[in-house]
Amino acid sequence: MIAALDLEGVLAPEIWPHLGDHFGVAELRLTTRDIGEFEELMRRRVEALNRAGLTLAAIRSVAHEVRPYLGAQEFLDRIRRHCQVMIISDTFHEFAEPIMERLGGYNLFANQFETDSSGRIVGWKLRIRGQKARVLQGMRSAGFKVIGMGDSLNDLTLLQSADYPILFRPVPALREHLPQAPVVQGLDEALNRFMEIFRSNGSSL
Ligand SMILES: [Mg+2]
Repeated sequence: MIAALDLEGVLAPEIWPHLGDHFGVAELRLTTRDIGEFEELMRRRVEALNRAGLTLAAIRSVAHEVRPYLGAQEFLDRIRRHCQVMIISDTFHEFAEPIMERLGGYNLFANQFETDSSGRIVGWKLRIRGQKARVLQGMRSAGFKVIGMGDSLNDLTLLQSADYPILFRPVPALREHLPQAPVVQGLDEALNRFMEIFRSNGSSL
């Protein structure tokens, strides 16, 4: 069994709104919960950063202030006894590695920024975009069952490809796409749901 989990909005707060608040740039507060088209969202974010003269180094140190949700590390610690844990996210490695350390050092599959010689962000490498379904299909064809959990439309293909999709405090549009999938409102409830799945698959608890 493998758990393929979203990061922001599930295990940690959204990072971009924190940047928006810190630097007073309203456009940076937008997230995948607001704009489903990720390329468009990224274009707007990068334009706003460059307009404000913010380099990757400047925003990275502020992004590193974001801490996991209370209980997220314990949630992962409990489920890792029954499955492997992978975090598959549209976040950026440059932002999220300290969160991953605090969560217990799990593997993160995320995107990367491209910068010029002055440290200005000029683009991004989408390692994950469009690949979530493929990553999950790979796991399934290797014989693993997959539990997927996410909160926004950018998790749709991940959830559609999972054996057990779980919607974590989902945006309404995500719920409309997956009306049969169970909804949880917090990590305690998610843990109960995971334990039911492990039990139904014969994991000794
Ligand atoms: Mg999310």
